[in-house]
Amino acid sequence: MDNALNQPVSVIKGIGAETESNLELMGITTVGDLLGYYPYRYEDYRLRDLQDVRHDERITVEGRVHSEPSLIFYSRKRSRLSMKVLVGQFLITVVFFNQPYLKKKIQIQDEITVTGKWDQNRQTIIAQEMKTGSAERASLFEPVYSIKGKMTVKSLRKYIKTAFSEFGAKIEDTLPESMLAAYKLFPKRQAMYAMHFPTSEREVKFARRTIVYEEFLNFQLKMQALRKFEREHSHGQAIHYKLPELKKLIHSLPFALTAAQKRVVNEICADMKSPYRMNRLLQGDVGSGKTVVAALALYAAVTAGFQGALMVPTEILAEQHAKSLYKLLEPHGAVVSLLTSSVKGKRRKALLEQLKNGEIDVLVGTHALIQEDVDFHRLGLVITDEQHRFGVEQRRVLREKGISPDVLFMTATPIPRTLAITVFGEMDVSVIDEMPAGRKEIETYWVKHHMLEKVLGMVEKELEKGRQAYVICPLIEESEKLDVQNAIDAHAVLTRYFGDRYKAGLMHGRLPNEEKDAAMKAFSHNDIQVLVSTTVVEVGVNVPNATMMVIYDAERFGLSQLHQLRGRVGRGDEQSYCILLADPKTEIGKERMKIMTETNNGFVLSEKDLELRGPGDFFGKKQSGLPEFKVADMVHDFRALETARKDAQKLIESETFWHAPEYRRLRANLKESGVLEGEKLD
Ligand code: ADP
Ligand code: MG
Repeated sequence: MDNALNQPVSVIKGIGAETESNLELMGITTVGDLLGYYPYRYEDYRLRDLQDVRHDERITVEGRVHSEPSLIFYSRKRSRLSMKVLVGQFLITVVFFNQPYLKKKIQIQDEITVTGKWDQNRQTIIAQEMKTGSAERASLFEPVYSIKGKMTVKSLRKYIKTAFSEFGAKIEDTLPESMLAAYKLFPKRQAMYAMHFPTSEREVKFARRTIVYEEFLNFQLKMQALRKFEREHSHGQAIHYKLPELKKLIHSLPFALTAAQKRVVNEICADMKSPYRMNRLLQGDVGSGKTVVAALALYAAVTAGFQGALMVPTEILAEQHAKSLYKLLEPHGAVVSLLTSSVKGKRRKALLEQLKNGEIDVLVGTHALIQEDVDFHRLGLVITDEQHRFGVEQRRVLREKGISPDVLFMTATPIPRTLAITVFGEMDVSVIDEMPAGRKEIETYWVKHHMLEKVLGMVEKELEKGRQAYVICPLIEESEKLDVQNAIDAHAVLTRYFGDRYKAGLMHGRLPNEEKDAAMKAFSHNDIQVLVSTTVVEVGVNVPNATMMVIYDAERFGLSQLHQLRGRVGRGDEQSYCILLADPKTEIGKERMKIMTETNNGFVLSEKDLELRGPGDFFGKKQSGLPEFKVADMVHDFRALETARKDAQKLIESETFWHAPEYRRLRANLKESGVLEGEKLD
């Protein structure tokens, strides 16, 4: 931003010390901040046709009052004023809560305009605003700002207006003219002004497009620069794997790789061969066959004389993976070992010795693998399963040991493409978007809780066939606040129900790790047939004999989580079932249950999940690390995001970007973000 815009807001006429501190509360300290303090939405006062409005939508309609308004008081402060209103050919109800004084203003036969929330079932508007007479307004689009403290929207708008007249001329374009023309964007000044003072919906749309694209482009330039510098400054190792040996392994598999698997193996191998350090994310739905891909990559490293490591979040998973890698790789001469906390004393010492000597080719374990006293002979590739649990810290540890192996992150939580290219924008992404042929689709049913008896009958039928079942509850124990099923109660109920015919075990997050492991082991050995659990079973657990997944209060879980839970069954050859017990009260809740029964595709679900919950919730608060955009919305402006990414990629690789005057401001922003100094590089 221009220097003039970096001045404190107090240089604006009419803004004194008090207003200055009020504005500061809202994060506004400079003129530029104020000009860029955009409305978070626009109130749409255009009249709507009741034929195309949806339930819960906020709408404005015009009509004639058709019945005497009736007023009821529930208490001194709480009241309800209601009347029938004829809107077009529809007779609807209009209700005002706690605005008793309106009764005097509204007469039967009056023409009124009301704005409020539409209740489709009751054919009622819960009105917040009303005006007698017809709908004429100064503006049909009124910006809505979030304000704090003593600030009012009216004065905020006044300050913004003054700021524009005094400093608007100082706003300069960040984007080069060629881009503005190519994408039909507004010059920045015009865009910023229209955000605050739009004259039409169309104008808002164009203004928004401009701001959104600029936000995305700046962000993506940062990501792409980061990626370029990581590549060029990282001292990776060129892993010259032996293709014929790799092919031999592929041909020995009991199945043919899917086209998607082949593609990602090629992508990974190309990275390994290059002297840059690989930093790649491998996404694939539950059961899409990531383990084989991992095995092939590890084996490729081994054929080049390197070692490989596979890190997973839990010991159970480590054992599972070690077993399958052993089966796949040992016949081809690769030595696979498992390192967990139960490997102790002499055995551990011997194992570490072998690792250091290079006698072990592939080591599987939890993240303890790369820490402490573990030294590799020649580590070339690290693969981590379930990307969310590994990260920056582990990479730092490796770096400090002086190793920069290629790193591949695998995740079964399908991350919507939208998020993948933003959050992991500095990584390369490979996607297995195809399931092995011949899989039996899990059958998913949504039933209400009062059908529990029937559900238990279905469970019993599966148990009779020798199969096993999971029962998932949202809570561990009873809660006063929430009326939802808890694992401890459900465990008691099921234990009683199945008597001594079948055994039910209990697992939840508050149990010590050993008890969790014990419960899991007992279930995988079929010592217990029903595992009642909270969502701690979510991650990667593989018990192919389990064919039944029952989820209590399923509406309380997000779609991605439900999908992960469902992915615990359907892992063997048998037909599997997932039963969602849910009485959702909201439309979104119902929609979620419906989608679950309609698709088994994790990517479709994750896109939906993102749509329904928003990106902040998708990753959970703690690990969000999502970039913040003022105006742009990663979900709805997804196309712009893609375009910006492609453009950024091209720019970063081009000579002109680094020299041409028209990119001066974009370069300056990049510099400000610290990327060019290499500050954020590792
Ligand atoms: P993920 O880790 O992606 O959930 P896995 O790698 O565990 O999936 O694979 C699930 C199952 O599918 C395994 O039993 C595996 O042997 C099998 N599998 C993997 N790839 C194929 C393929 N191309 N064709 C048939 N079965 C496959
Ligand atoms: Mg897996």
